[in-house]
Amino acid sequence: MKNIAPKLQADQYERNFSDLHPPFTQNAATTEALRCLYCYDSPCMKACPTHIDISTFIKKISTGNLLGSAKTIYQSNWVPLTCAKACPVDVLCEGACVYNVKGEDPIQIGRLQRFVIENYFEKGMPTIFDKLPNNGKSVGIVGSGPAGLACGAELALLGYVVTIYEANKIPGGLNTWGIAPYKMRREDSLKEVELVKSFGVDIKTEVMIGKTVKVDDLLKQHDAVFLGVGLGESPQLSIQGEELSGVIGALDFIEKVKTENWKDVNVGKKVAVIGAGNTSIDAATEAKRLGAEQVYIIYRRSDVEMSAYEFEYQLAKKDGIVFHFLTSPKQIIGKDSVEGIECVKMKLEEPDIRGRRKPIPISGSEFTINVDMVIKAIGQETKSNFLSSIPNVTLDEEGCVIVDQTSYQTTNPKIFAGGDCINGGKEVVNAAYDGKRAAQGIHAFLSDQSKGEK
Ligand code: SF4
Repeated sequence: MKNIAPKLQADQYERNFSDLHPPFTQNAATTEALRCLYCYDSPCMKACPTHIDISTFIKKISTGNLLGSAKTIYQSNWVPLTCAKACPVDVLCEGACVYNVKGEDPIQIGRLQRFVIENYFEKGMPTIFDKLPNNGKSVGIVGSGPAGLACGAELALLGYVVTIYEANKIPGGLNTWGIAPYKMRREDSLKEVELVKSFGVDIKTEVMIGKTVKVDDLLKQHDAVFLGVGLGESPQLSIQGEELSGVIGALDFIEKVKTENWKDVNVGKKVAVIGAGNTSIDAATEAKRLGAEQVYIIYRRSDVEMSAYEFEYQLAKKDGIVFHFLTSPKQIIGKDSVEGIECVKMKLEEPDIRGRRKPIPISGSEFTINVDMVIKAIGQETKSNFLSSIPNVTLDEEGCVIVDQTSYQTTNPKIFAGGDCINGGKEVVNAAYDGKRAAQGIHAFLSDQSKGEK
């Protein structure tokens, strides 16, 4: 990289990456819990993709029954600490809280959930779950992200022998590696991994399924297999200069930041982030908090079409990120390393039949922004090469695994799937829900098989 931003003092990094929302004290949590109206139709619960019984867990906080509250949460969601810290609560549970209708602040459901689960971990994860005896069947799970962990936890408690295969050396998937540290530290994700392991789930790390071990081997070894492999690489921008030093994919960048060796992560003095999704905002704000003087987000549509949530957009603006809407990169300029990015202004066509407005370049509107680093954040591709190599598993045209919407069974009866590899990329909470539901699908399938064998 040509111009690297000067390193900050260690305490400055800690301040920059400190918790966005500090935890509740006991008194504050109880006071907030007492505000809850315990609505009979709980719109908050309906809005949560895992349908946590929110009014019940909040009621238990108000009566001081924190372990009972944790149990209520875990009955629906096996990664509730991650969800409490990383969920877009404004558009999910808190967005649905009836207090919004009254024009008052919604109940802080995310912070209350965090309070309960942090208390559970501080107490040393006391046993609050019933585990059925070993039923003699085993399940192999590919991927230790939220879907894999949820599926593993549920199956282990149902009496299955569960092995999770993880390519990375540290488990947890996106929960460990993909969430900005000011939202959640890696150690939080690892606590949730430890809980799942405490149910007897074996996690084998640095195992590349499809390379060192084939899915066929797993099918011979296990009675069923669950695919929770998430998504793969960011697609190429396919513009000149993409190979220059200083160009990096957003997830690779965020993963480096998540090691929390702040001083080892080089960031340019001026940084351009391509794309305006939630990952783009994470990458942009992290670059700024690592010391970049100026960070730009470049997006070819307008703020109306960007997929980043409103609160993420506001956070980025607060961090001083400059947005170039209706702007598309044309080429990355530089000899060996990035020196600038040539962009062109765009305009939106009339909406098509699906309501999408296609951006088209405005000829002669090219301009250059001087930058030292370009972060590509234009989404992720599915792992279609790997997935299409699995016998009798069918993919849709987007490269996502097709599953039965109730059982999560693929077109190969012994293989189930959930999370980003079936939906193309949603929230952690959706993956947690899929993993739990798929475990129930696997249990029903293997129970039926056992009846047939008798
Ligand atoms: Fe409580 Fe709000 Fe849910 Fe009603 S909608 S139960 S007030 S959190």
